[in-house]
Amino acid sequence: MNTQTSNLTTLYDKYILGNYPVAPFTLVKGQGTLVWDDTGKEYLDFGTGIAVTGLGHCHPYWVKRIQDQATELIHCTNLYRFPQPPQLAEKLAKYTGPGKFFFCNSGAEANETLIKLARLYGTDKAGEEGKSYKIIGAENAFHGRTFGGMSATPLEKIQKGFRPLLDGFSFGEINNLESFSSKIDEHTVAIYLEPTQGESGVLPCNAEFLQGIRKLCDEHNLLLMLDEVQTGVGRTGRFFGYEHAGIVPDAIAMAKGLGGGFPIGAIWIADKYAGLFTPGTHGSTYGGNPLACTAALSVLEVMEKENLLERVAESGDKLKASLCKLADEYQQHIAEVRGQGYLLGIGMKKDPTDFINNLFEKGLITVPAGANTVRIYPPFNVSDNEIQSALDILEQTLKELK
Ligand SMILES: *Cc1c(COP(=O)(O)O)cnc(C)c1O
Repeated sequence: MNTQTSNLTTLYDKYILGNYPVAPFTLVKGQGTLVWDDTGKEYLDFGTGIAVTGLGHCHPYWVKRIQDQATELIHCTNLYRFPQPPQLAEKLAKYTGPGKFFFCNSGAEANETLIKLARLYGTDKAGEEGKSYKIIGAENAFHGRTFGGMSATPLEKIQKGFRPLLDGFSFGEINNLESFSSKIDEHTVAIYLEPTQGESGVLPCNAEFLQGIRKLCDEHNLLLMLDEVQTGVGRTGRFFGYEHAGIVPDAIAMAKGLGGGFPIGAIWIADKYAGLFTPGTHGSTYGGNPLACTAALSVLEVMEKENLLERVAESGDKLKASLCKLADEYQQHIAEVRGQGYLLGIGMKKDPTDFINNLFEKGLITVPAGANTVRIYPPFNVSDNEIQSALDILEQTLKELK
């Protein structure tokens, strides 16, 4: 450990809350797929800060747009109009279809807004408060760390120590329609899902299941609310994960990839339900400020200009095929490969902590997830050569793994 690193470790220990298990290196610079630590060591970033930096690090166009906007107007609150939120909403609506947007700062906040939407919908439907508010979510879901998010996240490691949580949640098993339909009663207002569960290990809902859920929601007048915080904004090779199933939800939460690394979250609500939020019902001081919206706008502009959705879809298929080949060759270590596009998970046969640390040492950053999973989330504009280098490191590391 050099002195700079050891000083930093001391500062971390003294001043930074210990809620993260931090890796033993210090990142100081990034460009494209590459990041460097404070010793000058180079890494391929196949974690993208957990599906955030879709354009890679410091994409020149994105940086320029943020710099220019920073000299024009950074913040003024949503009590005033400024050009960027409707511009961003108009661009996003090309993917969502007609509806309205609310901008916030994170995935948890976006999800909180979905849960508030379900409550408003229930109040409207029942004609009184506190009667219809039940939400059916999924086992192993992850929706964030706020009280609403935690309540919708039936994982012991997330909820422990914070109970009592919000009332009214029950949970079905993904890809088992009956486990959802059997929980619907006259007080149910919404079904709430991630199209692919990210934090729990890249566990996809299949198309037939999502279509069945859409039908259930229609039959019982329930909102279909999707958490696309991890799957959205191109990660799966379509703009939203649900598009693979050919359905349309009633409301969507998004965040991670949206700002390309600048904090912004959003929800979209179909026109039919958008009127439930009236003046005073919700807000966010920073949410969707000119700088954040500009960052998101420039992400979408680059994705369009560089045809990144197509690139992720095509290259993601190839990358998955290569990972499946490794899984075949190293069956003693790999159980299966899941996901699509650049939302891929290698399901290991045992805890992948050592494996992931060995990858770090060889210069490849990946992110762990539940179910012994190693997430492979490269930036959308990763080159074929960089993918090959990552595959070589994976193979070499598997070879050495005991
Ligand atoms: C990351 C994530 C969240 C939480 O987002 P934050 O920005 O960390 O609050 C919520 N839902 C899903 C599906 C996520 O992947």
